[in-house]
Amino acid sequence: MLKEDRKSDFKLDILGRTYTVKTLKREEHEDILKNSCGQTDWEDATIYLENFVDETHEDDENGMLTQNLGKALNDTFRHEIVHAFFYESGLCNEVDFTQNEALVDWIALQFPKMMKVMMQGKAFDDKEVKDAFAAYESVNRQA
Ligand SMILES: [Zn+2]
Repeated sequence: MLKEDRKSDFKLDILGRTYTVKTLKREEHEDILKNSCGQTDWEDATIYLENFVDETHEDDENGMLTQNLGKALNDTFRHEIVHAFFYESGLCNEVDFTQNEALVDWIALQFPKMMKVMMQGKAFDDKEVKDAFAAYESVNRQA
């Protein structure tokens, strides 16, 4: 099941620009979602995610389907965030790799593992870690 804070629109600051994140039902927004589970509209600073994690899916007794769909939604969300970072860095019209879906996906899928290794190796300074935890905590307080 989608976390409650993912069911309604919410805002994210990506390199100083405010993005709106919207989760949509495919049957109502095929025109926006097209052939993927996520889209980013850079002109409107909006990330669209397909809400394919809803009550219509049957879970096994361990809730596995919902967990897998939740992971897939997060993977898609990170993919769209990577695109937005490229765009807000001014790279999208300059270099081809920003539109390389395999590369964007690789970053999105590997990022949690990279973050873990970087944390273990203390590859962040204290302010970066504090800022990241503060952002995480502020979202959880709102939910
Ligand atoms: Zn993409």
